[in-house]
Amino acid sequence: MSAKIIDGKAVAARVRADVAREVAELPGTPGLATVLVGDDPASAMYVRMKREDSAEVGIESFHRPLGADASADELAGVLRELNADESVDGILLQLPLPDHLNQDEFIALIDQRKDVDGLTAVNAGLLVQGRAEAVVPCTPAGVMELLREAGAELEGARAVVIGRSILVGKPLAQLLLGANATVTHCHSRTRDLGAVCREADVLIAAVGSPRLVTGDMVREGAIVIDVGTNRTDDGLVGDVDFEPAAERARAITPVPGGVGPMTRAMLLVNTLRSARRRLG
Ligand code: NAP
Repeated sequence: MSAKIIDGKAVAARVRADVAREVAELPGTPGLATVLVGDDPASAMYVRMKREDSAEVGIESFHRPLGADASADELAGVLRELNADESVDGILLQLPLPDHLNQDEFIALIDQRKDVDGLTAVNAGLLVQGRAEAVVPCTPAGVMELLREAGAELEGARAVVIGRSILVGKPLAQLLLGANATVTHCHSRTRDLGAVCREADVLIAAVGSPRLVTGDMVREGAIVIDVGTNRTDDGLVGDVDFEPAAERARAITPVPGGVGPMTRAMLLVNTLRSARRRLG
């Protein structure tokens, strides 16, 4: 294996330490509210980890669990209450919601300034406009940190993003464009994905398909970021076939231990940023 392994855990620990230091210097305590509807074990675990992260850096967490049969009115009421609560700087609505609740409808209720996941239409629009006040979704923001860590020179580079979700692929493409990369965006209808990927100086997979990106799709010397998290019989694997890709790449993220820890760390960064607006 020739690639440098980009250690997401180490970068995330550094980000958390920076956040903790800055939180300690604030004249008040930042607050992050987590809203969990239902009892999906994976969602419950993600929320628990986010609350633990918050505690570690001095962010107060407010947890609002709702039953799986919570009504639309109930959830809307909780979000409105948190919007109005001055001690809450960030609202994290854990997704997915149970089927009877329309995700878009509830994301739209979150005050854009407290939208620490960067999912509201206002924040997505601000990002497209390249405005500094946009709240950037945590995973793409974390990917940009990892690219910095890997020493990626994005200006003029060919970046290929596979996946176009509003959570990951689309905001990431905007961020890369903002960094003056030449961005190609791939999805399930892309013809000859391998040929497009082989053009990439920076290749980012955010698909949810185990080992979709094979070694021969990686250009020699590329930087490869694997956002995918797929539970398989072999355990947790990414969208990139790690070993053969690492033979060709200059730097690559592992799964686990790459993008995942950064997603969590960037939530703290977004909460701190929101708290700064309130606390100065
Ligand atoms: P998503 O909403 O399901 O989007 C998947 C994207 O992949 C879609 O744009 C889809 O194209 C595209 N796609 C599907 N099959 C493809 C194929 N064969 N070739 C090329 N493109 C294909 O998923 P997501 O929410 O963006 O998440 C993507 C992955 O990242 C998942 O594994 C998720 O678990 C993981 N994830 C990880 C983190 C983390 O912190 N590590 C955070 C978020 C997500 P169409 O648009 O044409 O359908």
